[in-house]
Amino acid sequence: MNKRDYYEVLGISKTASEDEIKKAYRQIAIKYHPDRNPGDKEAEEKFKEAAEAYNVLHDPQKRQQYDQFGFNGPFGGGGFDGFGGTSMNMDDIFSMFGDIFGGHGFGGFGRRSAQTQHYRGSDLRLKVKLTLEEVNQGVTKKFKVRKDVTCTHCHGTGAEDGSSRETCPTCHGSGIITHTTQSIFGMMQTQGVCPTCQGEGQVIKNKCHKCGGTGIIKGEEVVEINIPAGVADGMVVSVPGKGNAGEHGGVNGDIQVFIEEVEHETFVRDGNDLIYSLLLDFPTAALGGEADIPTIDGKTLKVKIDSGTQPGKTMRLRGKGLPAVQGYGSGRGDLVVNISVYVPKTLSREERKALESFKDSDNFKGDSQTKDSIFNRFKNYFS
Ligand SMILES: [Zn+2]
Ligand SMILES: [Zn+2]
Repeated sequence: MNKRDYYEVLGISKTASEDEIKKAYRQIAIKYHPDRNPGDKEAEEKFKEAAEAYNVLHDPQKRQQYDQFGFNGPFGGGGFDGFGGTSMNMDDIFSMFGDIFGGHGFGGFGRRSAQTQHYRGSDLRLKVKLTLEEVNQGVTKKFKVRKDVTCTHCHGTGAEDGSSRETCPTCHGSGIITHTTQSIFGMMQTQGVCPTCQGEGQVIKNKCHKCGGTGIIKGEEVVEINIPAGVADGMVVSVPGKGNAGEHGGVNGDIQVFIEEVEHETFVRDGNDLIYSLLLDFPTAALGGEADIPTIDGKTLKVKIDSGTQPGKTMRLRGKGLPAVQGYGSGRGDLVVNISVYVPKTLSREERKALESFKDSDNFKGDSQTKDSIFNRFKNYFS
């Protein structure tokens, strides 16, 4: 970024006095103030540029460093002691206004920071229970919420009629009050936001009869909340601007939606994987064949079962699990199939006879390899 010389920005000479610097900056700040130039990006840039220039030049030490080294100050990194174009945000600039405009009756200027903090509505918290199907697809939920809404009578101004405002009797319009206290260092002056008008500089003469001057009333609103696919128990989805309305026409708070997951009757969730327990009949496990596996999107998959499939075997169906939440990892999880084998609890006479004929066959006794693997699984389970 090509930065303009700070003196050039403020339109002053290199030998300008502190008063001249202050005066020049005040003129530019008023001219390009965002309140006067809403939505004008160029004005905002000029406003920021001037603030940065003032921030350096009004401080004798920083000014001297700037005169000597230019933008490539002795603090390295090419930036001038952290005043690189992006380092001053609007809040910094407005908080700097205290010493320039404070007590000078510049109604409305320089208090945005305190104001927006004060007039932001609070957040609402909601809980939503989701099934795994909803997690899989993403879902839009409607809520009827009781919350602070903008007063319909005064449209948030808090005044009974549009114009009934008067200068704050406490701060006389500056929005700032100065405390003077005696300390061991002598008289100390500190400045703070006026508690009567909250920095507004004005108070309402005729308060709105419906909201009592706050600009907000209790109301109800139906809000639609889009919950992205892949969320999990304990996550919070934030919906900006849908919370309580702020007092005096301030900004709305947010809605924070806490996700709760309802237990599923078929699947257990493990991250983005789903686990399904398949109970195979004994002949299919021994002979091989096919099995039906349900999926979270309601379809059924046919999978091949190898002959000699052992209980405890797992199969992984790639990409048949849950989707990842936007921006967190990529792709879908898997569907993990845990296989158990069903041993009949009762047998008919014929079945009993058929099975008894296998009893002495070595194939039915279980080989040492299988015994070892079962023992290891058992051991691992407890370690
Ligand atoms: Zn009202
Ligand atoms: Zn006041």
